[in-house]
Amino acid sequence: MDYRRIKRILFVNVFINCIFISLQNKEEVLLDMVESGGELGWLTWPDEDGWEIGQQAVNGSLLYNYFICNVEAREQDNWLRTTFIQRPPTATRVFVEMRFVVRDCNSFGADSLTCKETFNLHASEADADIGTSFRKGQFRKVATIAPDEVSSIGDMRINVETRVVENLARKGFYLAFQDIGACVAVYSVKVYYKMCPATVKSLAGFPETVAGGENQALREVAGACVENAESEEQPRIYCTMDGEWVVPVGQCQCRRGYEAVGSACQECKPGFFKAIVSSEACEPCPKNTQPSGPGALSCPCQEGFFRALEDPLTAACSGLPSPPRNLMATTAQIAVGKLQLSWSPPLDTGGRTDITYSVVCERCDGSACQPCGEKVRYEPSSTDLKGASVAVSELEPHLNYTFTVEARSGVSCLSSHRATSTINTALHYTDPPKVTGMHLVDNSPTSLSLSWSVSRRAKPIATRYELMYRKKEKDEERRSEKVTTYTVLVLEKNSVHISDLTPSTVYLFKVQALGPEGHPGSHSVEQEFSTLPEGNTAVILGAVLGGAAMLFIVAVVLLLRKRRRNTHTRQGPEDAYFSSPEQLKPLKTYVDPHTYEDPNMAVLKFASEIHPSHITKQKVIGAGEFGEVFRGILKIPGRKEAAVAIKTLKPGYTEKQRQDFLSEASIMGQFSHPNIIHLEGVVTKFKHAMIITEYMENGALDRYLKDHDGEMSSFQLVGMLRGIAAGMKYLSDMSYVHRDLAARNILVNSNLECKVSDFGLSRVLEDEPEGTYTTSGGKIPIRWTAPEAIAYRKFTSASDVWSFGIVMWEVMAFGERPYWDMSNHEVMKAINEAFRLPAPMDCPSAVYQLMLQCWQQDRSKRPRFQDIVSLLDKLLKSPDSLKTIADFDPRVSIRLPSTSGSDGSPFRTVTEWLESIKMSQYSDNFSMAGIVSMEQVLQMKSEDIRNIGVRLPGHLKRIAYSILGLKDQTSTLSVFAV
Ligand code: AMP
Repeated sequence: MDYRRIKRILFVNVFINCIFISLQNKEEVLLDMVESGGELGWLTWPDEDGWEIGQQAVNGSLLYNYFICNVEAREQDNWLRTTFIQRPPTATRVFVEMRFVVRDCNSFGADSLTCKETFNLHASEADADIGTSFRKGQFRKVATIAPDEVSSIGDMRINVETRVVENLARKGFYLAFQDIGACVAVYSVKVYYKMCPATVKSLAGFPETVAGGENQALREVAGACVENAESEEQPRIYCTMDGEWVVPVGQCQCRRGYEAVGSACQECKPGFFKAIVSSEACEPCPKNTQPSGPGALSCPCQEGFFRALEDPLTAACSGLPSPPRNLMATTAQIAVGKLQLSWSPPLDTGGRTDITYSVVCERCDGSACQPCGEKVRYEPSSTDLKGASVAVSELEPHLNYTFTVEARSGVSCLSSHRATSTINTALHYTDPPKVTGMHLVDNSPTSLSLSWSVSRRAKPIATRYELMYRKKEKDEERRSEKVTTYTVLVLEKNSVHISDLTPSTVYLFKVQALGPEGHPGSHSVEQEFSTLPEGNTAVILGAVLGGAAMLFIVAVVLLLRKRRRNTHTRQGPEDAYFSSPEQLKPLKTYVDPHTYEDPNMAVLKFASEIHPSHITKQKVIGAGEFGEVFRGILKIPGRKEAAVAIKTLKPGYTEKQRQDFLSEASIMGQFSHPNIIHLEGVVTKFKHAMIITEYMENGALDRYLKDHDGEMSSFQLVGMLRGIAAGMKYLSDMSYVHRDLAARNILVNSNLECKVSDFGLSRVLEDEPEGTYTTSGGKIPIRWTAPEAIAYRKFTSASDVWSFGIVMWEVMAFGERPYWDMSNHEVMKAINEAFRLPAPMDCPSAVYQLMLQCWQQDRSKRPRFQDIVSLLDKLLKSPDSLKTIADFDPRVSIRLPSTSGSDGSPFRTVTEWLESIKMSQYSDNFSMAGIVSMEQVLQMKSEDIRNIGVRLPGHLKRIAYSILGLKDQTSTLSVFAV
């Protein structure tokens, strides 16, 4: 059988429905057998009986194929080699798609024992076309190609198989089809590689890219932003083996003035703008802007409108605010030199919400104006005010001030136009009118009615009067030697009725007007008016006054009584509100802050205001009556930094407590003496009120002495007393009665200078820790207080002298408690029975004598502070005078337990005994010396005590005296009778 003929028959009419799938644009074809037509020029080996080329007409066009069908012969080895296929260097991986028909071996019957149904695909690389030279050995096998389906005669089943030839490295290659005895016809061979096509993704362009090979599944490709787009990082993308783009990285965005349209960036249209690089679209121009041209980055503001630096370009342009309205200056009620400026917000805010205000102050003297400078204070501040008001303080009276308030917004700095409102104002402190003639309206044995006039017309409501009166002394010239008392009344009217006076007595009156802010004017001349002798009341009243006059007086009396209840709760009319020891001397007189209707005025008058920012609190050093006391630093610009004590007012105080707290400053502020604690100032204008005084490093005197028991000489102690006496002399010269002079109220500085402190007004009555309630309702520090002050509250400088005597005793006894643990009642009883404290141990006799003088029952016999200072000065000038020691009774010099155990039984141990005399620091000295029993103690002499190591003379004496006392077991507590 001629199989060649069969072959022809076989493959004739093969072309049928052969559909060539159109090439995808991502495939780059290197070789296409169909396209080449008859010009294939493929090489066959062997020349004879090998692959043959066939031809077939399909639908009018000729199709070529290679076929072979040597099924009956053994050991077939027929090669069909393509032409040289060149490839681009990136195409290392090519696809070979084959369309072929394989004849079923069974259709050849018994003749086809050697028949095969597969063929092999081979490839061989080369850098150049080697023409017709063909060597099998140069080929490597790529695959065995088996048909999915074999065909029998008349039945043409076309197989399509694609194989990959990889890792191509040379410039080109050949493919070869090896037949080993099959009946096969190859109709089409197409060789191609895959490409990721050039693309634009997310505004980035990527070039056409050959798909990766097997060892490079994803090929990274760098791209570039399209025109007018930019990106922070270079855009990248990956090309898969299948020629698909995946995972673009790095986004390109259209430039300012451009927006994305499709895959390009286009200029913004007129009337639109884009200010930033973004993927957003252009925005229409905002309000109050001029229309923009194409490709605008922003839209410029219309004339008269502005954009603040921090405003985004997308925001509307805003106008300037209009000036503040209704600017007003209100004089604050309580504060002198202070006014409140307030205004209404501008009508037109220019479309903005960031309106602030600033205030400029000018002071005008006549027509010349100058900036007020730093002196004027603003609360909360003068610039950047969010609210529509500001408090201005530290203004001077009578000056004209011009305040200009400007409304500002974020765009104000962009224009020279100012939105201001101005107000002229002056603080008119009306000088109080001068009081001229004072005359008697009426008198009776116990009352006087007076009235007076003023030099010029004063507003009756705004003017108040301060009236002072006292009894005229019989011996008026010698008055300076005594303490004279005044009664002070603050009145709303220019007339007064005073009752409860002594008949047939001459009274001296002086009056001064007070300005609306509490500023006093000058005093009138002192004038005398007398009460009538007793028994004349009815006659005089009947004769002089009609019913209407009676009513008037009753009204005045009621008014006065009410006023006196308000202002003078502490004393009767005879008591000292302020006393003047020497009217002739031009001495300053202490002014009771309670005579001020508004105590805040007194603080303003006597204490300077400190800004809290100048104060630094460092540490709590004590607990005052109103709050903690701190040590701190005061740093006022232009002044040296100073250590200060800061008294604070605890939160939750009432207005009354605040006033009481600050009243101490009103008092202290009136004093200036090296032995009186110095007031630096107050903080009253802020929430936390404070009193700032000089800092006293060694704290309270009683504590200091206890801590330095026995360590100071009599000379040093007397030096301290001299300082306290000098301070008290100053106070009494100013007619100030302290009422609570005690070592606990004396402060000691680092130079051991003593200063009198504690000028609280309320404490004597209410909060005195040592105080005891008296029948009259007050609370009095019994141990320190003179009997007449306890009995009928006669507080005078003479009662302060008594207290000074007690302070002397405290000092000389190193802070011992006066009268030890006797009760207040026992103390009062003992004093009334003429007993007095005994001399402290080691106290110079002259000092003890002075104490006893201070404790004279008759207050007029007590020395004055002036005398005390002179005497102490004398003692200090001749220290020998301190050598004579007062008689000392060991039984009473140390507290009772020092002579026996607390229950009255003898001490059991040395330690117990030492503790009782507060000398336990020497316990070790005793035990080391082998003194372990009280029997041994009783045998000790002064040298023995020194020998065991007690060196301080005070301690030596204390121990020696205690031993003396222990030996005298007959002791009972008694105080010295004088
Ligand atoms: P006072 O409220 O005045 O009784 O003060 C309470 C305590 O604070 C006093 O006992 C002192 O220990 C301490 N203290 C008060 N003022 C000062 C000061 N100026 N210097 C040092 N310590 C002070």
